[in-house]
Amino acid sequence: MKKKRTIRIKDPKLRRIRDQLRLLLLEVKKAKTIELLNRTGKLQKSEGFWDEKSSDYKKLNLKAQELYSQNNDLSYAFNNSIIFCTVCRKIDKDMTYNPVSRRWFCVECYKFNQVFETEQGRAELYP
Ligand SMILES: [Zn+2]
Repeated sequence: MKKKRTIRIKDPKLRRIRDQLRLLLLEVKKAKTIELLNRTGKLQKSEGFWDEKSSDYKKLNLKAQELYSQNNDLSYAFNNSIIFCTVCRKIDKDMTYNPVSRRWFCVECYKFNQVFETEQGRAELYP
């Protein structure tokens, strides 16, 4: 997305649905992260994982790197999503997208940062 955008939901029922969906996505993310960490942990306990001379060393370490990379991608996607505010981490807020940092902020945090950065002479950071 290239433009600043604020998404507001006024209907309390729709807000509740949005908040519950965000919560559900956070739970799914948490479960996936735990799964990836458990799989990495099992690999690290495999025979040959720490032994460079083992025939399985390269294969096991490549698989561990792959799992680590998947976890990083998942965290990156979540940290840049609309699910929670970049600053306060709250999930039950209307959000504003900042095209400069390419992140979502709750309306309150966005306005606070916008005023602060403008006072500091960096208004371009929060259009
Ligand atoms: Zn916030």
